[in-house]
Formats: sequence, structure tokens, C-alpha cells
Amino acid sequence: MLAPMRPYDLIIFDVDGTLMHHPEGLVIWEVLNDRFIGDRRLNRERYRRYRAGEISYAEWVDLDVGGWQRAGATRADVIEAIRDLAPAPGAHESFALLQERGYRLAVVSGTIDVGLNHVFPEHPFEAVFTNHLEFAADGTISGWRATPYDLDGKVRAMEALVRRFATSAERCAFVGDAFNDVPIARAAGFSIAFNSRCEELMAVADAVVPGPDLRGILPYFLD
Ligand SMILES: [Mg+2]
Repeated sequence: MLAPMRPYDLIIFDVDGTLMHHPEGLVIWEVLNDRFIGDRRLNRERYRRYRAGEISYAEWVDLDVGGWQRAGATRADVIEAIRDLAPAPGAHESFALLQERGYRLAVVSGTIDVGLNHVFPEHPFEAVFTNHLEFAADGTISGWRATPYDLDGKVRAMEALVRRFATSAERCAFVGDAFNDVPIARAAGFSIAFNSRCEELMAVADAVVPGPDLRGILPYFLD
């Protein structure tokens, strides 16, 4: 029997800025903070505090989502607020073609599940690691769970997927756009900085593919 020629078993995608695009380049956290808390400076300040080690990732999530909850945000408000988030051009076609070529697809992302499910309701991912929002029967936010799998955690998620799919890090490819993708881009067998403005990521990635059309990655994943 011939071994498959495919160089990778699994392609892991980031979401915001990679698969899901906003006309002004915002991520879902910025969109929802704008809508419910209402000041772009807040994002910058919390990001700075996180990077300085003053707050943990989970505390950062608590600050943001707790603020939306106190503002009375409902599921319908959230869906309305993220109406400008759209799939990357060519995303659906790319997923179909990659699956046809035998690749398994997964998401490891600092996004929020409600956004991913809204933008990709029939997504093809065999595994999804994201932050989680819960809504009560009346639609208000009743809880949330910060993902342990952002930044360095993205590498741990890949390791879990390697075990689950009985493959190796060398046979995992990663596609992402931002600073939080740097650790997994270093650890994966092959990485693409896609639609990226992050110098650090572009420097460590094996390939740089300009966005926004996701079909730009296809030549790297032949069958
Ligand atoms: Mg991103």
C-alpha cells in the first residue's frame, strides 16, 4: 500500500483575523467591548495589563465578559453586535477542498464559541478549543469559561490533538494571524502567517500568505 503523500494529517486554524474577518480588523472581544462597555481604550489597557503579568488570561476574560453581563447583554444583543463578522473569503471552498484532500481540520482559538457558531454554523472542524459563553433561558449571560488553550496554551491544545488523532506535531500545520499564535506557530510542523500584520508571527512562520482570501493557503496543502 502506498503511504499518503499528504505532508500533514491535521490543519489547526486560529479564528479572529484568520477565518473570521471584521471590516475594521477587530476581533470579537473588541466588537463586544465596544458594544457593551464602550471604550476602545479599555481593550488596550487590559491587553497591556495582561502582557505585563498584572492580570491572568482568565481574569482578563472575567473583566470583559463580566462587564457585558453587568450591562445586561443578551444572546440576541451579542448576535446583533457581531453582525459585521464574516467568514474569510474562500473559507467554505477551502475547507471542502482540504477535507477532500484528506486533511482533518481543527480550531484552537482565543475567540468565543458564540461567534464561531454564528459565522460558521455548519463548520467542518473535528475539534474546537475556544472561550465559552453561557446564556440563561431569558437570554442573559449566565456564565463563561476562559479557554486554557490560548497563547502558550495553543501548544497544549495541539499536543492533545496529536494524541487524539494519533499523529505528531511534525504532521500538524497551523494557520493564524496574530501575536497569540506565535507559540503554536513555532511548535507545529508547518505554520502559515495568514492575513497577518504581526511581525513576530511572520518572522517565525514557515510561510506568509497575504489575506483576506483563505484560498491562498491551498497550494501548501496538496493531496
Ligand atoms: Mg487571530
